[in-house]
Amino acid sequence: MQGFNKYYPPDYDPDKHTSLNAYRGKHALGDRARKLDKGILITRFELPFNIWCGTCNNHIGMGVRYNAEKKKVGAYYSTPIYSFRCKCHLCDGWFEIQTDPKNTRYVVVSGARQKDEDWDPEENGGFAIHDTEGKAGPADPLAALEKTTDAQNHATKVQIPRLEALQGVSDHYGNDPYALSSLVRKRFRVEKKIEAQKRAEDDTLKGKYGLPED
Ligand SMILES: [Zn+2]
Repeated sequence: MQGFNKYYPPDYDPDKHTSLNAYRGKHALGDRARKLDKGILITRFELPFNIWCGTCNNHIGMGVRYNAEKKKVGAYYSTPIYSFRCKCHLCDGWFEIQTDPKNTRYVVVSGARQKDEDWDPEENGGFAIHDTEGKAGPADPLAALEKTTDAQNHATKVQIPRLEALQGVSDHYGNDPYALSSLVRKRFRVEKKIEAQKRAEDDTLKGKYGLPED
């Protein structure tokens, strides 16, 4: 059966052409797959750090994107190691960066130099993602203690009573919805019974004295 979203040309023959892409004579990934026979896929690659091009010596900033030739070059246990070959946008030189699964990072393999130091986000006005607690508090131990005491006071004097109050309200209304609703239903049944009884008495009275029906 033919699909809904694809145009199948009149001379398309599913027996002759295994797929629409085969009919058109190209790969689903288009131009990106032009080196797929060599195990290379053209992919968008963003520089994970600052480098200097080894050919033109220009500085290339982190985040610059390239159409890279991505290729599996090995494995670290079951994790593939990928190589990204990029052509410098400032000259004709090529550089290669590989994934390093062992250290969960990228490394420059050839054609460029990586800035020596590891990227320090704090130095660059950001926050280190792996160290959220460490430097957030004051360095003075007394101040730190005071801060802890403040937090404790706040917890015992404000947060816990508030929680207890909320818990009380919640208990009052929501603790046992079945008991609550059966209580309501019971009250309703009693009222109905009393009303019916009263009506019966009225009817008897009316009957006794021959009063007109209202
Ligand atoms: Zn260059």
